[in-house]
Amino acid sequence: MSQLAVTNVVLPDQAAVGLRAENGVIVAVGPDVTPRHGDVVLDGRDGALVPGLVNGHTHAAMTLFRGYGDDLPLMTWLETRIWPAEGRLEPEDVYWGTRLACLEMIRSGTTKLVDMYWHAPETARAVEDSGLRAFVCAVLFDGGKADGLGALQDDALASLDHLAPFGDRITPYLGPHAVYTVSPASLAWIGQTAEERDLGVHIHLAETRREVEDCVNATGLRPLELIERCGLLRPSSILAHGCWLEPDELALIAERGTTVVTNPVSNMKLAVGRQFPYSDAIQAGVDIGLGTDGAASNNSLDLLQDMKTFALAQKFANDDPSTLPAGEVLAIATGQRSRVLAGRPIEVGAPADFAIIDRDQPEVAPGDLTANLVYAATGAMVHTTVVGGAVLMRDRQIDGADEIITEVRNRVKRLTAGD
Ligand SMILES: [Zn+2]
Repeated sequence: MSQLAVTNVVLPDQAAVGLRAENGVIVAVGPDVTPRHGDVVLDGRDGALVPGLVNGHTHAAMTLFRGYGDDLPLMTWLETRIWPAEGRLEPEDVYWGTRLACLEMIRSGTTKLVDMYWHAPETARAVEDSGLRAFVCAVLFDGGKADGLGALQDDALASLDHLAPFGDRITPYLGPHAVYTVSPASLAWIGQTAEERDLGVHIHLAETRREVEDCVNATGLRPLELIERCGLLRPSSILAHGCWLEPDELALIAERGTTVVTNPVSNMKLAVGRQFPYSDAIQAGVDIGLGTDGAASNNSLDLLQDMKTFALAQKFANDDPSTLPAGEVLAIATGQRSRVLAGRPIEVGAPADFAIIDRDQPEVAPGDLTANLVYAATGAMVHTTVVGGAVLMRDRQIDGADEIITEVRNRVKRLTAGD
């Protein structure tokens, strides 16, 4: 049996507590909880104990393309930078790019990610080796052509076969890229397969106005109507972005129990023209998560920073500073406002997934802790990260970090050669 005890930490309401976990699950938390014989003991150094952050939408291995082609229009960036470089990708590149992403996420208190990228088995292997949890899917394309269904089916089934043997920290998903890169015939097959195999679907949806207009012109349906007819609107499905969703569409999403993950930093960097309609989504009762998107369009994977951006963007868009208060931002970023992301507060019976934040840093020293976490903290203030009772970072040290950084630097030289 694995046993962990954490001493000398405070909860965001400032209560001083201890915590014990057995076999990856919190079994005790409170002022009188002390270590027992056989426990691995972590001194929290008077830090703030927060549930692990959940990155609801990312492309982890795109750390390989961080800072490669910034400040370009979306299609120019994809066509002249990202897609040519991705053409040179080898499976081992994806492994190391994902390791780097996991390193950054562990350092900033993230304990679970929802990923979509090429070579999904390498992503799963890297996540497993890093100690994090992930929903992993292969990105599925058929170029929007109906005759692409056969190849897409082969890709999807091979990916599911390769993901099946991983442990319970890896959840296989189906990852149709978007309605403009996957044909209705393939989307319908994915919906049917998700139903038959009881799988979740992770798709980019309603990110730009052009996506909506092109979909209407091509199919007569808005993107949400199209995926609904194809059977993708499931309780376990995750829709990334949703900036151009309308109130009636949000009502349907709420009715189906599907989660929308907003990625405010990526949306603003790529200038998609509209913020996710958070207030309408809340009114409709939509499950919501927060994501960074890939490091090529963010450019960091630090959810503590993105919490602030999310809050500010919504306040500004709604012309109302009371929109999206700090406690709600923290609940969303820790997966507690989405049934499928399944975040839990620090409580008995929850998985022992948490971070400890250094309260001695000047940026968070005085004031309300929750507000400080959302508006002042960055990932650099996390000193300890734990997943399933395993200590992945202690006093900001992570095993193997130097090797990962060196390996990725060398691989990026090859991937971006000639530019
Ligand atoms: Zn994305």
